[in-house]
Amino acid sequence: MEFQKRFVFPFSLQCIWKKVYNRGSVGDVGTVHASAKLMESNNLPTDPMKDINATKVFLDKFTDALVVAAALEFFGMDSVDATPTRHNFNLEEHADSLTYVETVIGQLVDEFALPAEEDISGVSGELKCPKCQKKYNIMEALRNHLKNEHKAGDEDQDTHDAVFAHSCSLLTMCLICHDFTDARQAGDGERIIRLMKYMLLYFRSSGKTKYSLQVLRQLAQVKCLLTPREAHHVIHNRFVNTKGRPDTNVELDRACEASNLVFKTHARSLHGQVTQKAINRVSRSCQAVDKILRHVDKDCKRKIAASKRGGRDATQDVLKLVGALTHDRVFRLSADGRYHKSFPGFTRGYVVHIKDHAGFHKWMASTLKDLSRKNVFRQQREQWRY
Ligand SMILES: [Zn+2]
Repeated sequence: MEFQKRFVFPFSLQCIWKKVYNRGSVGDVGTVHASAKLMESNNLPTDPMKDINATKVFLDKFTDALVVAAALEFFGMDSVDATPTRHNFNLEEHADSLTYVETVIGQLVDEFALPAEEDISGVSGELKCPKCQKKYNIMEALRNHLKNEHKAGDEDQDTHDAVFAHSCSLLTMCLICHDFTDARQAGDGERIIRLMKYMLLYFRSSGKTKYSLQVLRQLAQVKCLLTPREAHHVIHNRFVNTKGRPDTNVELDRACEASNLVFKTHARSLHGQVTQKAINRVSRSCQAVDKILRHVDKDCKRKIAASKRGGRDATQDVLKLVGALTHDRVFRLSADGRYHKSFPGFTRGYVVHIKDHAGFHKWMASTLKDLSRKNVFRQQREQWRY
């Protein structure tokens, strides 16, 4: 069975939601739920699979707000209208404006979006109680521990800034999702394969074994199991562009579903009188008839509901959230051990934290061995080699 790449995105959202979405976090500025409430995205579902479009609309605005808030901190600005006080353009240091932009954006990404190696190496991915340093594996357990064991007056022992870690993790996750959507729209198969390596970590750390197996299988196919010709097909021959603009690529299976819908609509006109001859006629003619109907719609300037996208302008929502994020300084590292009540002890590696590294490695090795044993392309590959 072919693993449908278009499902990787919603599946990864599901995994991410599992780690960063909490309905009790409405008072914690900068968390997903609080931001959705602030921007009045009331249709944001608890499970992204239930309404992927609403999730995507929210995530686009949320990503913009996080990027702007991180940039304000980076450039030492209080609001979007303020003048930068750090990382200014300097003609002696930066030869031209393009080099300047590339350098500072690189620094910004390094500082906020890329976790340091120790953050994801497994050591600091663990959750620790900010008050007594007890270690936990599950956020829910730590939340309960804090609620039951510690009263409001307890002294915090920890200086770890869980709010900063949480905001940076969200930024990383949002940028990866944004990159994935962008790669799909641009039909950039190679970028999708690169991003799949991140998805493997997300899936594995959320305990989604079937998804991680499918992603690993796809990576193994592309990197070694298939012949170079087949691998090239899997990477590049996956998208179709029916509108002709650079960002209007869709996956082949999705386009196929759209044409199935056209077929079904036309088959309905048979009113149940289904014969082999009639089905043959409909299946041969439906694409052409659909094309003619679209042209007629276009000539009559009739608007089709599905092509009416965009909705209202998101700028005000984004600016509102940026205001709240900057007010709480979520991107400024502080040493007073602050944390979100719903996400105590959050570390930068928590989202992709895999508890058992040796086990993960062993699973990958044994799965790859299994896959190569069952590889139906082996014969072809060997023929190709000699
Ligand atoms: Zn404790």
